[in-house]
Amino acid sequence: MAWNFEKHASELLRDHGSIEAPVDVERLAKALGISVRYERLDKDVSGLLLVENGVAKVAINELHHLNRQRFTLAHEIGHVLLHAGSDRVFVDRRFFRNEWSSKGELREEIEANAFAAALLMPQSLVRQHLAADAGITDVDVFRLATRFQVSEQAMTLRLVKLKYIEPD
Ligand SMILES: [Zn+2]
Repeated sequence: MAWNFEKHASELLRDHGSIEAPVDVERLAKALGISVRYERLDKDVSGLLLVENGVAKVAINELHHLNRQRFTLAHEIGHVLLHAGSDRVFVDRRFFRNEWSSKGELREEIEANAFAAALLMPQSLVRQHLAADAGITDVDVFRLATRFQVSEQAMTLRLVKLKYIEPD
């Protein structure tokens, strides 16, 4: 059965945080009992997730941009909720799409990313912050990305997904 990322992410925010931009992803991780550390990791590694005896520990690469760190943490929360039923280790790299051949792992990465986007840019909140009508300009994307503390690329993908803008 398809997991409803949008619904689950907004329920999570409602239950453990608040739905406002920027989403306080660290507070959410704490509320879920996930420990988070910021470390110097290999430059290609965005984050690590270790799940052991039901306890989740995340390390985020502090060398990366704050926006990226936030997305990585949201991505790891997605793994915890979706994929970490038993003890697991996740090593998340910048360019996982090319590196991972296993279909199962790729599916998990796509799901964790979809969850992260829904968590950091909830549809209801994006809609609130969109200028009334008249199409979305590059300036709007920049303004939204700044407001939500995500990269412009992440915001662009999200706006395409929500059908507010056309893909390039
Ligand atoms: Zn991942």
